[in-house]
Formats: sequence, C-alpha cells, structure tokens
Amino acid sequence: MSDSEKDVSDLCVSCGMCCDGTLFNTARIQDDKDRKLADSLDLITGGQEDKLYFKMPCPHFAGCCSIYDRNRPQICSMFFCNPLKKFQRGEQGFLEATQQVRSLQEHRDKFMKVASQFPEFDGLGFREIKNKLGDLSEQSDNISTYRHLFLLLFVFDDLKTRYFEAAKKEEVQ
Ligand code: SF4
Ligand code: SF4
Repeated sequence: MSDSEKDVSDLCVSCGMCCDGTLFNTARIQDDKDRKLADSLDLITGGQEDKLYFKMPCPHFAGCCSIYDRNRPQICSMFFCNPLKKFQRGEQGFLEATQQVRSLQEHRDKFMKVASQFPEFDGLGFREIKNKLGDLSEQSDNISTYRHLFLLLFVFDDLKTRYFEAAKKEEVQ
C-alpha cells in the first residue's frame, strides 16, 4: 500500500460517515450476486433490477467496519467520497480533503450534541433525528422549539452539497 493509499485508508477508518447514516440513506448494490452477499450479511436490502440497495446506517458499523476482513458488497471497498476523489485525481491536496471531511463530521457532532438536549431524540442516530425533524417541520409550532437544530441542519446540508455533491449520486432513491 502506498503512503497516499494509507492516508486515505486511515482517514476512512477515523470517519465512517459513509456507513453510519450521516451521508446516505442507502448504499448501492451492483447486481443479484452482490445482493445475495448483502443478504447473507443480514443487511436490509431492497429495490429492483438496477436500483438495488441496502439500508443505512449499516448494522456492521461500530466506530468502524466490524466485518472488514469478510467478503462485503462491492461498494464497501470501491466507494470514495468526493473530497477523496478530488484528491485522487490531483485536483486538491490531502489536507484540503481531510478538512472537508472533518468539517462535515464536526458539524454532525455539533448537531448531535444539541439534539441530545431533547429527550424525544433519545437513542436515535443522526439519520433518524434528521428524518424526524423533517416530519416535525410540517407543524409551524415546532419551528421555534427546534430552531437551533433546523439551523445546524441547514448548514450541514450546505456543507454536504458543497463538498460531497458527487457522493449523492451513489445513493439509490
Ligand atoms: S466520507 Fe469519505 S473519508 Fe469518510 S468514510 Fe466515506 S469515503 Fe472515507
Ligand atoms: S459492511 Fe462495513 S464497509 Fe460496508 S457499509 Fe457496512 S460498515 Fe460500511
């Protein structure tokens, strides 16, 4: 493994936003063979033909991938986020890519810290809280209650769009 491959691998191990539901609701499955493999790993799969997916957050994520040494769906070893793709293409340095990943991660953590002050979000992960806030936003009474969280989510989505836009295309809708 080259030095730059090791840098990328270390960053991914310390990040996990691909697997923990921060970036995605789903991850793409390539074909039926890949789906059988995902099913055998107890991943929650769905979709049809060229729109197969498994759901996020991945149950095998525990700070990092807990089944790293096993045969996994192709996307698990093939996917790189946009900041890393730009680094690999020589369009930006590794430091810049790291800063982009860290800024989104830090913002997600800030959001989770504020969310932890609300008992109604107890035990929920980032993706679940984000979805719940989407439902709550339909009632105008909730806007002032969750104003800070809505604001943090707005900035999170802005950062995600700015730095991770290409990654969104990997998600199965
Ligand atoms: S978001 Fe980027 S740095 Fe983080 S785990 Fe995914 S590919 Fe790796
Ligand atoms: S199997 Fe591992 S790499 Fe693949 S989504 Fe789950 S935690 Fe991530």
